[in-house]
Amino acid sequence: MPLSAVQNTFTGNPLDRVSDRRGDAAWIAERLADPGSSAVALWRGAPLVTDAEGAPRLSRLPLALAVDAAVRPAEDLLFLGMGRGSAVFALDLQGEVDPTAGLLHGRGRFQDLRSLATVLSAEEAAVAATAKHVFEWQNRHRFCSACGHRSDPADAGWKRICPSCRAEHFPRTDPVVIMLPVHGDRCLLGRNAAWPPNRFSALAGFLEPGESLEEACARELKEEAGLETLSVAYHSSQPWPYPSSLMVGLIAEVSSEQATPDQTELAEVRWLGRDEARAVLAGGHEIHTPPPLAIAHQLLRTWAA
Ligand SMILES: [Zn+2]
Repeated sequence: MPLSAVQNTFTGNPLDRVSDRRGDAAWIAERLADPGSSAVALWRGAPLVTDAEGAPRLSRLPLALAVDAAVRPAEDLLFLGMGRGSAVFALDLQGEVDPTAGLLHGRGRFQDLRSLATVLSAEEAAVAATAKHVFEWQNRHRFCSACGHRSDPADAGWKRICPSCRAEHFPRTDPVVIMLPVHGDRCLLGRNAAWPPNRFSALAGFLEPGESLEEACARELKEEAGLETLSVAYHSSQPWPYPSSLMVGLIAEVSSEQATPDQTELAEVRWLGRDEARAVLAGGHEIHTPPPLAIAHQLLRTWAA
């Protein structure tokens, strides 16, 4: 499929990551010293935004201010890439006190990324999601998983190296298969046991070691709904920085409509025809599905069309 066939929320980061230059400390130091460089900021995963023409935009801090605000500049500044000829970094802030009450006073407000996801431009939402994903990893993996020693940041925030055993650690991405089962002219949505009575979505689960995406899809549909998968078609994927997932959207043809919810993860299922699916997407049905920012919504939309 064309690269831009489906533009899920959190895709479309416009920056050139220049990943081959991250390890060049002299080049990164030049970018850090360049007055044209800027930084976006996140406090506990929430991006700093200001309102421009009635809509939030990521605040761009002068890099000198970002360096001042960083508690540990080597650790808390991430090189995101080059945009319009200048470097863009991200600043990670973690303290208890809202930084806009101090050094970042007057620079905007911190707002949860979920609530921003569809009001920021797609490009800015993707930039913020990228920074959040790397910072989530940095904050959860400060110690070497091989020997337990504290590791050091490297490659402008994209790697950690253990000074004791020299093991190298990279940001993790955890694949999740999320699939819409279909049979004939109907598709199936499920309700998770923890959800309210009217909320339904596609079925999902983490990929396990030693599995292909197709095998994970078939296993999850068998375990959760008792369905036999006949074929699997790839739809699209979506970075999901909560904290480090990649949602892989699939449409799965199953052998029958005999679904048996496992009653632990899946409480209830509904088979929908295309007209019903369109009504659900339009908000004119008794059941509700996730909003357009979720890949489950896009899977249903593609199938219903
Ligand atoms: Zn180590």
